Amino acid sequence: MTMTMNEHDKIRELLALAAAGALTSAEEKQVAEHVRSCIACSNELGAWRPIASELRRLPTPQPSSWLVQATLARAEAKLAEQAEHDWNRRVMIGVVAFAWLLTLVSWLVFQVVIGRFGSLLGPQFGHTQFGQTQFSYTWISFAAFTALGWLAGGVAAVMLAVRQRGERRLA
Ligand SMILES: [Zn+2]
Repeated sequence: MTMTMNEHDKIRELLALAAAGALTSAEEKQVAEHVRSCIACSNELGAWRPIASELRRLPTPQPSSWLVQATLARAEAKLAEQAEHDWNRRVMIGVVAFAWLLTLVSWLVFQVVIGRFGSLLGPQFGHTQFGQTQFSYTWISFAAFTALGWLAGGVAAVMLAVRQRGERRLA
């Protein structure tokens, strides 16, 4: 055995530790010097480096794999999107129901206030001289209140959407 073979074998045993950064500075210097002139050790050290960095990563749970994190982020985004979709649909159903309720109630209130509720439900409806006018007026007022109700519903929907977006931005 020559001196260089001895050194080669000795250095070879240190390569894994060198990759893991577990050598003393004197040993490190020795390994670095040998690796510069020995292709076999240089290659082996290169092969140890990624393994050593993976091993170093193992005991710390914090930097989990990039793939896992990316998958989790994507799943979270999808869940949030789904939740928002469901929420929007529920709000829209609520707004539509509210708009109809508002329309009907306000129309009935309007009819009572102008004193025509009785004539609307009474048996004389349609039999008076002004029946046709009364009928048209009733439907025009109903249409107007429907439009008002939908407008109110639309405004409510927009306000809710804007508020929801604002809350999400703060969260
Ligand atoms: Zn060597």
